[in-house]
Amino acid sequence: METGRLRATGISVNFAGLRALDDVDLELRDGEILGLIGPNGAGKSTLVNALTGFQRHTGRLVVDGVDMTGWSPRRLSRSGVRRTFQNVRLFPEMSVYENVEAVGLGLGLGHRKVRGLAGDILDWFGMSHLSSTPARSLPYGIERRLGIARILVTGARYVLLDEPAAGLNEDESDELLELLARLPERFSCGLMVIEHDLRLIMRLCHRLQVIDHGRLLAVGDPATVRRDPAVVEAYLGH
Ligand code: ADP
Ligand code: MG
Repeated sequence: METGRLRATGISVNFAGLRALDDVDLELRDGEILGLIGPNGAGKSTLVNALTGFQRHTGRLVVDGVDMTGWSPRRLSRSGVRRTFQNVRLFPEMSVYENVEAVGLGLGLGHRKVRGLAGDILDWFGMSHLSSTPARSLPYGIERRLGIARILVTGARYVLLDEPAAGLNEDESDELLELLARLPERFSCGLMVIEHDLRLIMRLCHRLQVIDHGRLLAVGDPATVRRDPAVVEAYLGH
């Protein structure tokens, strides 16, 4: 049994002639913040899609010692493997509260349990005062934050965020960073973040994993990865 980690090995994905991922390994540990970086088109989103059951792939996925290879998005999500999408996917006509509630109910929780959890989560994310606001009338930065809050409603073990700071201004990014830094401890989970903003990623992450052209390029602590010649060449150099 290997608890306390999500471990993917040998993940490959092909799109009609394009090898989007080529034998990539990834480990996300409970309590850590892992940054997944790489140039545009490197395969970052495809990897998140594969790990969360949205993308057909070869390779193996073992989560807390359980082989979850080939599981559906719903089953993975119920087992605690949660993700956000690069573009927000909220229910625009529902209130902030209802957006959180909907995820909880979708995971099979009862109304009463969801109510308590949703309240706690909105509190922690500083959004309690917006509970009854329709999602469609939220400012963009708050909308992004709600997109993260709702997937934590219960039982999140490994949380994968695809460009959570995209489109945020510097103040909003800083606020988000402050929340994300405390998230693994508050929700007892591992956190993986895809992010273009290196300033943010270097401050936030305990470890970095770099992919380029669908291949694993480097993995390790941020300072070391940043100095890795292959990484500088492929990514940081331009
Ligand atoms: P990243 O998130 O790192 O920018 P992606 O994972 O979105 O990169 O894409 C990796 C590669 O796979 C790109 O070349 C992209 O054009 C291609 N790709 C992604 N999704 C599809 C798809 N559904 N069909 C065909 N090609 C795709
Ligand atoms: Mg992407």
